[in-house]
Amino acid sequence: MSATAAITLYPGRERPVHQRHPWVFSGAIANVRGRPANGDVVDVYDTHQTWLARGTWSSASQIRVRLFTWNEAEHLTGDLLHQRLTQALAGRAALPLLQDNPMTACRLVYAESDNLPGLIVDRYGEYLVVQLLTQGMAVRARQVVDVLAEVARPRGIYERSDAEVRQKEGLPAAVGLLWGEEPDQRILFQTHQAHFTMSWSDGQKTGFYLDQSENRQRVAAYCHDQTVLDCFCYSGGFTIYAAQAGARHITAVDTSAMMLEVLQMHLALNKLDTPVEPVEADVFKLLRQYRQEGRVFDVVILDPPKFAHNQQQIERATRGYKDINMNAMHLIPPGGILVTYSCSGLISPDLFQKVLFGAALDAGRAVQILERLSQAPDHPVRLSFPESEYLKGFICRVW
Ligand code: SAH
Repeated sequence: MSATAAITLYPGRERPVHQRHPWVFSGAIANVRGRPANGDVVDVYDTHQTWLARGTWSSASQIRVRLFTWNEAEHLTGDLLHQRLTQALAGRAALPLLQDNPMTACRLVYAESDNLPGLIVDRYGEYLVVQLLTQGMAVRARQVVDVLAEVARPRGIYERSDAEVRQKEGLPAAVGLLWGEEPDQRILFQTHQAHFTMSWSDGQKTGFYLDQSENRQRVAAYCHDQTVLDCFCYSGGFTIYAAQAGARHITAVDTSAMMLEVLQMHLALNKLDTPVEPVEADVFKLLRQYRQEGRVFDVVILDPPKFAHNQQQIERATRGYKDINMNAMHLIPPGGILVTYSCSGLISPDLFQKVLFGAALDAGRAVQILERLSQAPDHPVRLSFPESEYLKGFICRVW
């Protein structure tokens, strides 16, 4: 390997680095000494050639360098990975969420928030699912997996790096067993008192939406003896919690017939006999149809997929959020509950609240925010990296 490449920032562009933001954008780079290959370690200097930080190089991404240390003595070795992974796991083990509950699923590593840029690790029972989303992590896959196997002691480690972010890094999707054994059936796991399953081949993310674990409990508390419309239900995260809380009837909507089947399997797994109507439909259309039919629901949950993937999509995304929220409000009787989320990192909590305000005005309803929700504490938000906060939600009363 050649000597470590060095990049120099334009004057004034060192500020975020000083503030420990872990991304260096291509536009901040004045020059590069050496020829770093993708994933190589590079040193970052200011215009006076003062050493600032160290990161890994990615030639195709606008985020050209992902910083992993601001300490010149620290190098990206197996020992450092070991130390960081151990710290991430210790942080999770100490969470009240995991101590008081029989939780067997948890996000163990949340990338930049855990000072491990580009690495996501979720535990499901005895198995780990990883996403290696950057060049820096992709080239170190073997090393990361060996350390993970040692510190987390799973039965198997599976890669689900099929996320769109990989494309921005110029990386192909990568899916498959990396270490250990493959489960012979769907993996069973538990969050609070709810039992779920996931499989390597399930549609999205690492297989389940762990970021909503805490929120499901908060939302369920409003569902006793209520009729519930769970929109974008996936494998039934909210439906199962609502049923356990004594919901009277649940309508669960998703475009994926396969996930609706998994949801029904989860009802049986939890021995729930709550009447649940699975509906395979596009939520945008269904809400309109229900409005025409005069259907009402005491509680409506909206947990859509990410609408804004880049700056250009923000406006269209806000229109989408406004549309479903306004139409949902029409289905709620006075005093009923709207639970609404946005997982688009580019939509700030402020903007989301404004969108909701617009929806309420157009629906002609008075809406009160009862609770503000964010991602579960195993998805910590790092102060120097506001981008790590992406999930926001409101529990509202609609009059
Ligand atoms: N609420 C779920 C997670 C939602 S993920 C949970 O608690 O686990 C988003 C879901 O929306 C996915 O299952 C996806 O299939 C579904 N989806 C995406 N677009 C949709 C649409 N227009 N109408 C209905 N479902 C949609």
